[in-house]
Amino acid sequence: MSTYSGLVERQKAFFSKGKTKDIHFRKEALSKLRSLIKRHERELMDALKRDLNKSEFEAYLTEIGVVLSELNFTEKHLGKWTKPRKVKSTVTMAGSKSYIYPEPYGVALIISPWNYPFQLAIAPLIGAIAAGNCAILKPSELTPATSGLLAEMVGKTFSEDYIAVVEGGAETSQGLLDSNVDYIFFTGSVPVGKIIMEAAAKNLTPVTLELGGKSPCIVHSDANLELAAKRIAWGKYINAGQTCVAPDYLYVEKSIKDKFIRLLGEAVSTIYGLAPQEGDTFTRIVSKRHFDRLGSFLTNGRVLFGGRQNPEQLLIEPTAIDNVDWDSPVMQEEVFGPILPVLEYDSLSEVVTKVNDRAKPLALYLFSESKEVQKEILAKISFGGGCINDTVMHLASPYLPFGGVGESGIGAYHGKGSFDVFSHEKSIMKQTTKFDLPFRYQHTKDALRKIKLFL
Ligand code: NAD
Repeated sequence: MSTYSGLVERQKAFFSKGKTKDIHFRKEALSKLRSLIKRHERELMDALKRDLNKSEFEAYLTEIGVVLSELNFTEKHLGKWTKPRKVKSTVTMAGSKSYIYPEPYGVALIISPWNYPFQLAIAPLIGAIAAGNCAILKPSELTPATSGLLAEMVGKTFSEDYIAVVEGGAETSQGLLDSNVDYIFFTGSVPVGKIIMEAAAKNLTPVTLELGGKSPCIVHSDANLELAAKRIAWGKYINAGQTCVAPDYLYVEKSIKDKFIRLLGEAVSTIYGLAPQEGDTFTRIVSKRHFDRLGSFLTNGRVLFGGRQNPEQLLIEPTAIDNVDWDSPVMQEEVFGPILPVLEYDSLSEVVTKVNDRAKPLALYLFSESKEVQKEILAKISFGGGCINDTVMHLASPYLPFGGVGESGIGAYHGKGSFDVFSHEKSIMKQTTKFDLPFRYQHTKDALRKIKLFL
């Protein structure tokens, strides 16, 4: 019996009353969530500032704003999504009608990371509510101000039997995982993802795993280099590179490397300003451990731009390094910080081989004007999702399910995807009683011959 079995049991009891399945109840919960976020916008920004030194602009763009638009989209489409979907029936089933009924799993456990501590807890919660589940949120212990605020906000708005926030670290997660929930939605690192899946296997609990990895950013010589530099600078260094889909490393065609690095450096100083390691608006590294880990990468190669650090404030300047190879420590793990290793290539086939030699990435970005080049990369490399001629933006579309493949994750959410991951699709055939086709019964005359003909 885990410490949290009581909470899970109470939520299961509440779920079994059927209230959460009522569409009006779901809509009301989503609307309460919206007012809650709007009312606490100021406190949320303050908490994100305290936890990660996030600027108000980034806090709104990547946390509060994204969640509000996900809410809008969900509320707008919920009525349609919850309806049973009629599908075709085969000729052999003449007289019947077939439907898919989406139904909630029950109690959903949402375990979230620290890098977007508000968005990555609340965006899945929207899906869980929309699909009619009860939910338990376990935010990251590394962002305590946001986690505490989430607990307070949710606690005063929703009954714990319906939605609860449980604060704590790995042990708390383990306790929750031991309490036999009906669905697990995990966002975090690959090693912890494996622990989660192992725990889920004990009760055959279905999971979504939103993980990470090394997402390549390929710049081909025919790309619009100025625009590429601007879009890569933005996507790599937003949130100080602590974004699961940030370009992890730059893979640039040799002939344009020097020119491109110059443009990238210029774009970085335009967007983030000079010496952001001294400023007040650049996101900081979440912990001393991560700061030291990232600092050690700086000696892996030659610093092309950036490189200055501020240990007191845990700030690292947007940085690019070259003279690294596939065996350098910076290329052995997800960077997850404002350091961009730069590798160069001569041919596209080399890119395909090198990327495919490693775990399937969560994201891939390709900058090229050529349809042929785009086609080749899309056809030959498997990855979660990504952009052609942009970075990170695919994640912002409710029409594009977001998730990984292979080591970068299982399942995808956002928009209808969020409703779908938290719903079981129950397939139902409604049979006619007006007649009964005889072919399935073996006692009928010439049964085998007829069934062969019929099927
Ligand atoms: P993490 O895996 O260390 O922690 C994530 C959550 O799991 C936290 O709530 C933590 O308390 C909990 N946890 C930690 N150890 C645990 C254990 N042994 N058992 C059970 N629970 C445990 O990840 P993180 O450092 O918070 O986040 C960074 C990672 O998350 C990166 O790899 C990043 O790519 C990934 N990420 C992925 C996405 C995505 O949507 N795919 C989004 C953000 C971050």
